Amino acid sequence: MRKIECISVFDMLKVGVGPSSSHTLGPWRASQRWIDELKKKGCFDEVEKIHIDLYGSLSLTGKGHATDIATLLGLLGHDPVTMDIAIIESEIEGIRETGKLLLNGERNIDFSIAENIKFNRKFLEFHPNGMTFRACLYNGKKTSSSFYSIGGGFVVKKERKNASKKIKNFQNFPFSIEKATELLEFCKKENKSISEIVLENERSLRSDEEIDNGLKQIWNTMLESMYIGCHTEGTLPGGLNVKRRAFEMHQRLIGETAYSNVEDWIPAIRQTEVKFRQILKWVSCFALSVNEVNASLGRVVTAPTNGSAGTVPAVLMYYMVIENHDATYEDIKRFMLVAGEIGSLFKKGATISAAMGGCQAEIGVSSAMAAGGLTELMGGTPEQVLMASEIAMEHHLGLTCDPIGGLVQVPCIERNAMGAIKAINAAEIAMESDASRAKVPLDKVIETMWDTAKDMNKKYKETSEGGLAVKVSLSDC
Ligand code: SF4
Repeated sequence: MRKIECISVFDMLKVGVGPSSSHTLGPWRASQRWIDELKKKGCFDEVEKIHIDLYGSLSLTGKGHATDIATLLGLLGHDPVTMDIAIIESEIEGIRETGKLLLNGERNIDFSIAENIKFNRKFLEFHPNGMTFRACLYNGKKTSSSFYSIGGGFVVKKERKNASKKIKNFQNFPFSIEKATELLEFCKKENKSISEIVLENERSLRSDEEIDNGLKQIWNTMLESMYIGCHTEGTLPGGLNVKRRAFEMHQRLIGETAYSNVEDWIPAIRQTEVKFRQILKWVSCFALSVNEVNASLGRVVTAPTNGSAGTVPAVLMYYMVIENHDATYEDIKRFMLVAGEIGSLFKKGATISAAMGGCQAEIGVSSAMAAGGLTELMGGTPEQVLMASEIAMEHHLGLTCDPIGGLVQVPCIERNAMGAIKAINAAEIAMESDASRAKVPLDKVIETMWDTAKDMNKKYKETSEGGLAVKVSLSDC
């Protein structure tokens, strides 16, 4: 029996807060899980002091990725899906000013951000993104717990206690899929599209209503992040002085076309002139907008990560406003089911963590996900869908992660635009190809990506110790 863990489309696409899924969302979730642990152990009410150690990549680029802030927000009892992001700054300022932290919104304890969060350069053995929570209790005892943020907002413990449940869920899938070849086999045997196969699997985890509500929430969050990004001007936080570009780009593209809210926005864009240059600009604008929102601690959908959150919505929006003016929720649903499944193949066979595999694991995977989703919507066969995903990743292999200043801004924001354009191109090439004659199967490119990840120098894996991150200094900005 294979010990593969189930991965749902809602694991690959989830609502979160920027700027990073592994460095922001993951640590936030880890804080929430630690509070749960304290409660289960019955020592939550006994906690007198707490201390957090961040290790490896979480430490090296933690400041730029707001790891400390996210950890505190989790400890305060906030949830990344529902929190009013407008109060983030005041919540953190409150701790700084009073020297108190309201643990899970219930108990005030003494806390100094400068002294009780430590950034350690050391790497823990299990994974480059490690963090340890320690608590001193009033009865003199101590308790501690370590978590690992493995990319895409996933958080695990070394002992992996809930792995058996996920393995069982995988075995209960009507179509248990580890590799692209198996997915294709099921499509052929059942005479179903990829989205139909994936939907059957999702149905073994949740009801149709839950699936639809969940996917609609994902799409609404994507759309809102594009809308906010296209309507917000100014400079991004963090000290790089990066000017937001989606605002002016959008103004030039939309021109005088009238609209008053996010619902009217889609029909308004459909009225604009779209020649090749405008298409390139619209797609780039959508991608930039999401990642500008992400870089300013805004709400986005991890797809599969926050750093790469702009690629998938940009390509889906391209389909909605340029490719098919009659697109409906059913198209959105199919796109997301396919994109989620492609992302899960990479997670099972390689990684979606930049700390493990560099940027090929983020932008490369997001581009492959988007290419697959788009190809199915354009009428591609399952073979062509897989071929499009393969093409998209093939031309991201070896892409390193080197964010300047440890901020998810340069080169990250533009990379989403490039990933989106490559995804559209990959889909078009696959649509024009006889996919049965593909020289590089998707599984081979996934294996190659993983081999490349293992060979990649550590300085290119979300440490900001190589590439653009050292060539361009903050003082130049
Ligand atoms: S360079 Fe790529 S992988 Fe690294 S933080 Fe930026 S988007 Fe993420």
